[in-house]
Amino acid sequence: MPELPEVETVARQLEPELEGRRIEELEVLDGRWSRPVPPEELGAAVAGATIEGLGRRGKYLLLGLDGERTLVMHLRMTGNLVLVEGDEVLDPSEGRRLYEGERSTSARHLRARFLLDDGREVWFTDPRRFGEAFLIENSGLAERFVGRVGIEPLSPEFTPEALGAMAAGRTAPLKSFLLDQSGVAGVGNIYADEALYRARLHPLSPAGSMKPEHLQALRDGVVAALEAGIDAGGSSIDDYRDGRGEKGTMQEKFLVHTREGEPCPSCAGEIVRIVVGGRSTYFCPSCQVRLRRRPRRRAK
Ligand SMILES: [Zn+2]
Repeated sequence: MPELPEVETVARQLEPELEGRRIEELEVLDGRWSRPVPPEELGAAVAGATIEGLGRRGKYLLLGLDGERTLVMHLRMTGNLVLVEGDEVLDPSEGRRLYEGERSTSARHLRARFLLDDGREVWFTDPRRFGEAFLIENSGLAERFVGRVGIEPLSPEFTPEALGAMAAGRTAPLKSFLLDQSGVAGVGNIYADEALYRARLHPLSPAGSMKPEHLQALRDGVVAALEAGIDAGGSSIDDYRDGRGEKGTMQEKFLVHTREGEPCPSCAGEIVRIVVGGRSTYFCPSCQVRLRRRPRRRAK
């Protein structure tokens, strides 16, 4: 499932290719992608628009269009955005160009297709079809994300103090706290495990139990884990393998995620898997401290 580093990788790699291009046509092949807006209606609204940029907010991709509008896309479980040029497919999630037969694999899962004025195409592919898109005026963009997409972890606003304000009084386990998109935006199952390991915090520690030094460690751990993912070109794939059965390269760089039974990179003890909030969670019981619930509530 794409998390912040994967979405960021798609945006960074495709933006220079798309900026300034005109969308001749948007063909929505799957009504689920645009619902509740009918495919033809979304297509008509986007046709003729000039692309001003491709950015990210949380796990959302933001395709900036002229006329102060943004086409917001979410990859959900298995969505992907690729650039198609003749027989070649540029797939940022794979960090490479794909050739020949691989184009037909992508085509099988095609949900929407943008035809650009230079003859190239952008494909939204999605085998499990949970991905979605909607068009919104830029003036309503911020409000749309209120309560759904929290603080950007790679922004200057993501401080230990901000994290502390979010965590105060919360009894939820740290793992669940990090997965809540309305708190820290863009962190999913993989990077939550990696961040907690780097911060040396046990995933079951109550969020409200963190002291200032833990808040600093967690803030640093989240940033370091996400930056490592971006440096590796994202490419992490969690429960899902794509049509070719391949996995990305970030997988090889995980410190603890999916490494049950393997030695901890720090103490050589065994990495353990537990389930927290229905999600597989990997950690080192020796290195990661389980904090106790604080006896007093913080005064408001
Ligand atoms: Zn360890």
